[in-house]
Amino acid sequence: MTDAYPSRFNRFVDTRGVCTTPVPFTTALINGLAPGGGLYVPTEIPTLTLEEILSLAKMPYAQRAAFIYKRFEIDLPEDVIDACMERSYGDNFDTPDICPITSLDETTHMLELWHGPTSAFKDMALQCLPHFFSASAKACKERGELDHDFCILVATSGDTGKAALEGFKGVEGVCIGVLFPDGGVSDIQRKQMVTTTGDNVYVWAVRGNFDDCQTSAKRVFSDAAFAETLLADHGVALSSANSINWGRLLPQVVYYISSYAELCKQGKVEPGDPIDVCVPTGNFGNILAAWYAKQMGTPIDALFCASNENRVLTDFLETGTYDIKDRAFILTPSPSMDILVSSNLERLLYQLSGTNGDAIASWMNDLSTNKAFTVDESVVSALSTQFFGASITNEECLATIRSVFEEHDYLIDPHTAVAYAATERLRRNNPVLVACTAHWAKFGNNVYKALHGLKPIDELPADVSALTGCQLNKLIADETGKHDIPAGLADLDAMTPRFSDVIDGNEASVENALVRFIASQRV
Ligand SMILES: *Cc1c(COP(=O)(O)O)cnc(C)c1O
Repeated sequence: MTDAYPSRFNRFVDTRGVCTTPVPFTTALINGLAPGGGLYVPTEIPTLTLEEILSLAKMPYAQRAAFIYKRFEIDLPEDVIDACMERSYGDNFDTPDICPITSLDETTHMLELWHGPTSAFKDMALQCLPHFFSASAKACKERGELDHDFCILVATSGDTGKAALEGFKGVEGVCIGVLFPDGGVSDIQRKQMVTTTGDNVYVWAVRGNFDDCQTSAKRVFSDAAFAETLLADHGVALSSANSINWGRLLPQVVYYISSYAELCKQGKVEPGDPIDVCVPTGNFGNILAAWYAKQMGTPIDALFCASNENRVLTDFLETGTYDIKDRAFILTPSPSMDILVSSNLERLLYQLSGTNGDAIASWMNDLSTNKAFTVDESVVSALSTQFFGASITNEECLATIRSVFEEHDYLIDPHTAVAYAATERLRRNNPVLVACTAHWAKFGNNVYKALHGLKPIDELPADVSALTGCQLNKLIADETGKHDIPAGLADLDAMTPRFSDVIDGNEASVENALVRFIASQRV
């Protein structure tokens, strides 16, 4: 079996130097996290010529994605890759361009990553990963590496849960359960989740906050006895498919390469001329994808790392010390970037340290024992030539939404606003591609505050806060003339909720709920 398997497919090792033998793409995808706690990274980063990059502009987006995937020597037949991409990037997006670029002026190009079914950029990866996950599980079964199905378990503070539900619904060999904090997500976010269609999905509200949700999910994942029971009684293993999975990073590399081709095609950039990229960053996944695109030959010069008031990355880029010892977790208008530990940074450090797994292992050990680590001088200098950080305050964020609307008649969400404000601060001579990560109507509360000159800490007026999320969006649309609210958000009040369970956050209660759901899947 091993002999017949072409070794050129064994392309993935881990960041902490534990996997001495590389594994294929399908194994990396199914495992998610590598043995030893590190992240999977390719042994070689493929490169594209400028001609190849420019030629992408002639293809539909799904073919661009397939073209780039094939360069990574993925151990799936080419027709399977093509078919997965057709399903990932088709009419599930509200435009055939998938992620169109709106240029505000000659040097500011907004890459709209929110045209997918949940109106946030996580769709770009989560409409794609599930198809590759399912195909990979099948391949692993055929190689005799596993003999079971999967249940994806996600604890969400809002956006990821819905994107994962939409991505995995209807996918063969997988079911998905999502836990969200009862009362801890916005009206829009809750309605998006509890109205999800599909037979292989379930959603629970958990009594407690997001931390309670996440803690209970982690406990369930590490309960070995529970895993054994699930496997023996139901033929199912749990998986998380979270943002450290290589299968979530690779789809994001695609749109940076594709966007460069697109900018050239539209005559906004001369082929070969450099651009800078600005990304609103939380877990460091989206900006890392831009770095990979640069390594692969895309003419990207600088990477602007935009943070909100949780400025651990801004400080790290300045000092080389990543320190969360005395750092408070700050609530901001851009909640999907409220993060202290940016997991995907580990992959960049691995590359910049000259693939030194021992160094990474020791830094990550420092982080978990001392809540801080300091990288070598050589890594600091490699970082300082490519990455530039800026931290945007809550007030600046809201002021930016207002000023961009007034100056450009373009409405942005608070995450995009953080990136726009950082671009203004960090801009050099190159045109900038700004990653826009959510449609404004996902965060109507803060957009309303911004447009009405309220402070981030101000309450909404009583009559406004009495509105549903959909009604508030309608009000903003009427006030601004921006009637482009995506159907998936506009119609939520009219949709029937399918899930109304509220459960306790303890391990036993979550496990019972999961078993009931999984048993119902396999009748
Ligand atoms: C997840 C998310 C981010 C942060 O992306 P990372 O890859 O974690 O850096 C930014 N904006 C929105 C709207 C998100 O949902």
